[in-house]
Amino acid sequence: MLEEAREILQDYFGYPSFREGQEEIIENILAGNNTLGIMPTGGGKSLCFQIPSLCLSGVTLVISPLISLMKDQIDSLSTLGIAATFINSSLTRLEIKERIAKTCEGQYDLLYIAPERLQSKDFISQLQATDISLLAVDESHCISSWGHDFRPSYRLIPKLIASLSKEPIVTAFTATATKEVRADISDLLGIEEENTYVTGFDRPNLKFTSIKGENKKDFIAEYVEINQDDSGIIYAATRKEVEQLTNFLRKKGFSAGKYHAGLSNQERKAVQEEFIFDELKIIVATNAFGMGIDKSNVRYVIHHNLPQTLEDYYQEAGRAGRDGEPSECILLFHPADTRLPKFFIEESNLNPELKRRRYQKLQKMIDYCHTSKCLREFILDYFDDQQSVDGCDNCSNCNDQRELVDITTEAQKILSCVYKTEQRFGVTTVACVLKGSKQKKILNLGFDQLSTYGLLRDHTIKEIKDLINFLIAEGYIQLTKSKYPVTKLTDKAKLVLSGNEQVYYKVRKKIKKITAKNLLFNILREFRSKLAKEEDLPPYVIFHDSTLQEMVQRKPVTKEGMLEVKGVGPVKFKRYGKLFLEKIKEFKTREASSQEVATTTDTPSHLISYNLLQEGKSLSKIADLRDLALTTIQSHLVRSLQEGFGLDVDRFISQEEKELIRKKIKEVGAERLKPLKEILPDEISYFQIKLVLATEGEE
Ligand code: ADP
Repeated sequence: MLEEAREILQDYFGYPSFREGQEEIIENILAGNNTLGIMPTGGGKSLCFQIPSLCLSGVTLVISPLISLMKDQIDSLSTLGIAATFINSSLTRLEIKERIAKTCEGQYDLLYIAPERLQSKDFISQLQATDISLLAVDESHCISSWGHDFRPSYRLIPKLIASLSKEPIVTAFTATATKEVRADISDLLGIEEENTYVTGFDRPNLKFTSIKGENKKDFIAEYVEINQDDSGIIYAATRKEVEQLTNFLRKKGFSAGKYHAGLSNQERKAVQEEFIFDELKIIVATNAFGMGIDKSNVRYVIHHNLPQTLEDYYQEAGRAGRDGEPSECILLFHPADTRLPKFFIEESNLNPELKRRRYQKLQKMIDYCHTSKCLREFILDYFDDQQSVDGCDNCSNCNDQRELVDITTEAQKILSCVYKTEQRFGVTTVACVLKGSKQKKILNLGFDQLSTYGLLRDHTIKEIKDLINFLIAEGYIQLTKSKYPVTKLTDKAKLVLSGNEQVYYKVRKKIKKITAKNLLFNILREFRSKLAKEEDLPPYVIFHDSTLQEMVQRKPVTKEGMLEVKGVGPVKFKRYGKLFLEKIKEFKTREASSQEVATTTDTPSHLISYNLLQEGKSLSKIADLRDLALTTIQSHLVRSLQEGFGLDVDRFISQEEKELIRKKIKEVGAERLKPLKEILPDEISYFQIKLVLATEGEE
């Protein structure tokens, strides 16, 4: 039977070999044993029951907690030519009846249901007439009240098993590994210890980074700008923070969606779909978002706040890179962040012992932010995973490429200012004194008389605050826990003030793009989006990013070549692979003659960009398609405009911005752009100034 399983893996799923754990789990299931599989997110749990379902006669009943997850899996299975369906509350009674009837007739290999369906006696009795050979309990930690997602309806599963005329093979899967949860699953579902398989928890394609002392918003803005073609999730602790961060990103011109429990079901569903369908790249969310998000091409997960436990963190961060492609998990830390989770624990109804355990878990999470050890090793140790990952070379500690800058003098100025303001004021006041601010509050307090007044006048207030925050993160300054936290010096600060310790600021290297630009990849991705829209499927259901990447590397031009690409089986080849093969062939022909085209084409480069814009493509898309920098495309458009080609300038600039630029042109002239740019707000770009200059006299 295992041979058959291998054939199915290749013929249906297009994968040449099993991943760690899959083969053992499948073999054990096919031998008729109840089985529990504990694998990390993205480890490939679904295949562990989908393949046996095709080997065994009868139907496999899959219990899955979320409607969105079900639909996604059914869509994926259908593209592979596997007969599967689901029953949940989104269907009418008639539809449900039809699907059950077809299941009884043996038309489906897999039937997915939500656990709540088990409350229906009717449904249970209808199942009696069905030949259920396998039961798969997905996200099986939901059965345990120890787990973070306890779903009471999961407790009906043992009753269901007992009520069936023929006992099915019971399988359960989860990514949650704590002992209590595992024991609960085994007890309730009747799975022996020897039939439990735990695979390694390592996710080698994820790069872990922890950053402290940085201005979080600036970091996020820079990061999403550089990675604007990739999908990412930004987690924040509260609804308010989600709102603020979303507005901040939107003001900067990014299209970001928000998701939190305060929004209506409809609103949440809409953003979730946009995200899944790649129409929205950034989602800012509380931890309400994610369970059931099967989107495989999430390239980054940024935590704007500290999660409460490493379990939470690993689960949320683990939503990146399910397709195995390089992806990033970044945790932004500020010492003040520990207050909110502590408050949550304090205010909870937990008994003292449980509170103590929660505090311990939180402390581990904080330790993760401070450790200088390999972050991957830290996580795996926590989960008791014995794997050795010596020097993973893929986390911010193993691969710390920051440069050291000596900021002892600035630190001394800041620390003495904290001292001179009698350790009674917050970060902003200290920063204002150092800046030499003439604010009423500062003058009234007589702080303009302090020797530290204006010592950092060459820095902006923001820069000074960032430095203070860095000194807080490094433990030179402490913030009190009061409502209005004030700055206090620590013992470490005294060493700096007495000249016995140097302070180094680590300057982060420029953020790098996660996915390198590649023209063919972009063409294939664009084509996939088009197909996905036509078929109303999430793009990654057609092919994963990893499959597209492999196509780009191999550039197959024959059917056989295409079938060697992981993720392309015969059925998918027929349905989509053929079309992608054509695209690759087209690309190769064009590539071969590109030299020729370049010399014989009549269309100048700037007009090619212009034409693409007129076709409705965005600037970043054009930059991608042409493999040119965004600024180059912008200069192409300005040139087209100067040459008299009409352009809808209002897409790039508002009326107020135009007026402001015109006003400033009157003040300083337009002979040189730099002085003009300098007296305009930072948000106004050179591109916008040039657009106004190019349209001068038109309005
Ligand atoms: P999980 O449910 O464990 O989070 P999935 O079952 O969704 O993970 O699998 C994650 C990804 O890995 C999917 O894109 C799946 O197609 C892919 N995958 C699973 N098994 C294999 C395999 N043996 N070889 C290559 N890719 C695989």
